[in-house]
Amino acid sequence: MIEAENITKVYKTGAVEYKALDNVSLTIKRGEFIAIMGPSGSGKSTLMNILACLDRFDSGRYKLNGKDITFMNDNQLAKIRNKEIGFVFQNFNLLPKLNLLENVELPMIYAGVGKKARHDTAMKALEKVKLTKWYKHKPSEISGGQRQRVAIARSLVNKPFVIMADEPTGNLDSAVSIEVMHIFQELNEDGVTIVMVTHEEDIARFAQRIITVKDGRIVSDESAN
Ligand code: ADP
Ligand code: ADP
Repeated sequence: MIEAENITKVYKTGAVEYKALDNVSLTIKRGEFIAIMGPSGSGKSTLMNILACLDRFDSGRYKLNGKDITFMNDNQLAKIRNKEIGFVFQNFNLLPKLNLLENVELPMIYAGVGKKARHDTAMKALEKVKLTKWYKHKPSEISGGQRQRVAIARSLVNKPFVIMADEPTGNLDSAVSIEVMHIFQELNEDGVTIVMVTHEEDIARFAQRIITVKDGRIVSDESAN
């Protein structure tokens, strides 16, 4: 469960202060599929980065799965991130010199998982995204949609509480975007919590709950039924 309470984030550039998030409160339960929408500059990425424990905030409290991370240090946060959060980015963020299997194994290396277990878990994750046949290939040898599927496989291997995806289809054409969304949908049906930032209506409709951010505040929070 994600419990963010009265989160405020201020960016300071020299003497100029900008309130990117203004007293945002948000609860996300296990198994939800959430889209965060809103115009450019509204604070979506800032909110996502805070929920993903990548960025700090100026006031408020944040609990992830019962653990209050508000006052944790960088090392503690890094551990929480690697264990509880799977990351999917617009630009895939795969390492070009590693093959697909090795890319998917990476979060388990940081978590100290042994070689055999790493291999088996990574192959299973690649199976979920239908890419086992390609496991020895490099990211440069597959398409954009396939790369995003590898990134999704990588996000799964430590069995995170939540997958955080920032504009996961931003670099994909619409047919491929829909394929990627079908994978998120299947994972969600298996019980994986998904929080996704998108500015595309066609992509947001895959979520069950749409949160709209404007000028650093949540202006609507609607569940589809
Ligand atoms: P969105 O993801 O909705 O486009 P962001 O969260 O990236 O919005 O940004 C919200 C606001 O905060 C914008 O006005 C942006 O320019 C500003 N901002 C974001 N990151 C920084 C930063 N590191 N330093 C200063 N201002 C920032
Ligand atoms: P996104 O497309 O995810 O909203 P942006 O293009 O808004 O990302 O921002 C990219 C990066 O630049 C982010 O890490 C953000 O924190 C930073 N950034 C955004 N706006 C500003 C700003 N006004 N000053 C400094 N850094 C910024």
